[in-house]
Amino acid sequence: MTYENSLEFALKLDEQDELKKYRNKFHIPVINGKETIYFTGNSLGLQPKSTKDYIAQELDDWAQWGVEGHFLGKNPWFAYHEMFAKPISKIVGATEQEVVVMNNLTVNLNLLLVSFYRPTATRYKILCEAKAFPSDQYALEMQVRNAGLNPDNAIIEISPREGERTIHNEDIITVIEAAGDTLACVMIGGVNYFTGQVFDMKAITAAAHKVGANCGFDLAHGAGNIELKLHEWDVDFACWCSYKYLNSGPGGVSGIFIHEKHCNNTDLPRFAGWWGQEKETRFLMEKGFNPIKSAEGWQMSNAPILTMAAHKAAIDIFDEVGMEKLLKKQRLLSGYLEFIVDDVNESLNGSDKSLEIITPRNWDERGSQVSVIANGYGKDLFDQLTKEGLISDWREPNVIRMAPIPLYNSYEDIYRFGEILKKAIDN
Ligand SMILES: *Cc1c(COP(=O)(O)O)cnc(C)c1O
Repeated sequence: MTYENSLEFALKLDEQDELKKYRNKFHIPVINGKETIYFTGNSLGLQPKSTKDYIAQELDDWAQWGVEGHFLGKNPWFAYHEMFAKPISKIVGATEQEVVVMNNLTVNLNLLLVSFYRPTATRYKILCEAKAFPSDQYALEMQVRNAGLNPDNAIIEISPREGERTIHNEDIITVIEAAGDTLACVMIGGVNYFTGQVFDMKAITAAAHKVGANCGFDLAHGAGNIELKLHEWDVDFACWCSYKYLNSGPGGVSGIFIHEKHCNNTDLPRFAGWWGQEKETRFLMEKGFNPIKSAEGWQMSNAPILTMAAHKAAIDIFDEVGMEKLLKKQRLLSGYLEFIVDDVNESLNGSDKSLEIITPRNWDERGSQVSVIANGYGKDLFDQLTKEGLISDWREPNVIRMAPIPLYNSYEDIYRFGEILKKAIDN
């Protein structure tokens, strides 16, 4: 695609967009009377207009049926989570028994580490990327300490090479091989939240298995954003949240993946609760935990139906559109954002300032997100962009993270962003 930095060009792409009707299915925030340019779908996805009705349905059933809603409601709560198995398995590339929706992300990460990080006296190390999302860092640190180990020698972190911003997959693999049979587990953010880099999950998993370690990914920035084939890649476990790319509302429920070769293994250690118990015996209230033979066997509590209803509203849209169409538009849309940033950067040539895209430019290594370092600028640049109607994310000292979303962002959004950016830079 040869892009142009003009309104006419952006409007033409919008006209040809096969997903254009979906923008109107979302609430686009209007602040101070002005429709915003919303580029933070990687942080909190926008609300589908249908969400209210999905939640209202469950409130109505609760009003009408009380506890009987578990079995007599329109979508019986007893089995509510089961409605996600099919659509979610398509989003993450799994079989239906390998996924379940439950709890919140960091909770699930900890639960999965209980099963898949089982340190012994000789095999006790866990590998992650340096500067992982803080919640993941804290989870790993405490998992290691709970096992009586010292994080300083049990956690291996992989950094970008000197002077670089992103991590080479081959460096991860080299470190896995070097750790060899001391390595118990690999747990990496499959898509880095800061740079937007997508790791080669297939190759990393293969390398981990070769030395006898388990391998899992935090896909907070992956689910709904990139093509995933968790089953085929032979990944052992994964988890994600639903409120970023999956548009399911603040603090929304999380999903987990456990590979077929593990999820039927009832001997695999785990934390447990009654919702993981075989359905036939769950309500007998008897002694003895017999987990369901699927990822459902990792559930502990009964499902939070109201947030699950919000998730259902969003996932029904994903299911209608399908990942293939989303990914096709994503490339054009994020590619356009990349082009506009480069174009504005040209005007800075010869000055001591620049807009440096740190997200990899190769499509195997990126999704929607474009992270830009505003060299020579401070937070006033960001504040000015915000004043002009851009909602994006600023990380100190000078990184702007933006993720245009195929379901609800337009090419015009990106053109308008370019105009705002030029104006802010000229000031
Ligand atoms: C967003 C995000 C989280 C947030 O965790 P919650 O438990 O949902 O609050 C954790 N890890 C990563 C990698 C994230 O991107």
